[in-house]
Amino acid sequence: MTLTTKKKEAAIRKWIGISHGRVRDYHARNCTLCIEFQHDERDDDDENELGGCDNKRGETCPIALNGHEYCETTPYTKWRRHQNQAHIRHGRIEWNKTATCTECQVLALVEMLFVYDAIDKHLGWD
Ligand SMILES: [Zn+2]
Repeated sequence: MTLTTKKKEAAIRKWIGISHGRVRDYHARNCTLCIEFQHDERDDDDENELGGCDNKRGETCPIALNGHEYCETTPYTKWRRHQNQAHIRHGRIEWNKTATCTECQVLALVEMLFVYDAIDKHLGWD
């Protein structure tokens, strides 16, 4: 496993920052797990691969290893749903991308714990 402790911590810190309203959620673009593991499925020639959540070295995102490809049906789904339902502006989906209400804060911290647990379970710490 090539994911450094620093990158593991960054994946967790992202959500602590969001809960404090200091960091924005740019989806996969500022998730160190997605940056490390995600690839374009259209490049796949092996149909047995686990979606787009593994990298060229055959290493899989710890969240996908928990059975949640692309973070589907995880606390991240709830975070997105809340943003889309509670924080739409001018009739279009305009994410605040950071916590702006108490529910945002709670959902961000639940996601933080989820990411922590997945890393702890599947990758461990140096
Ligand atoms: Zn909110």
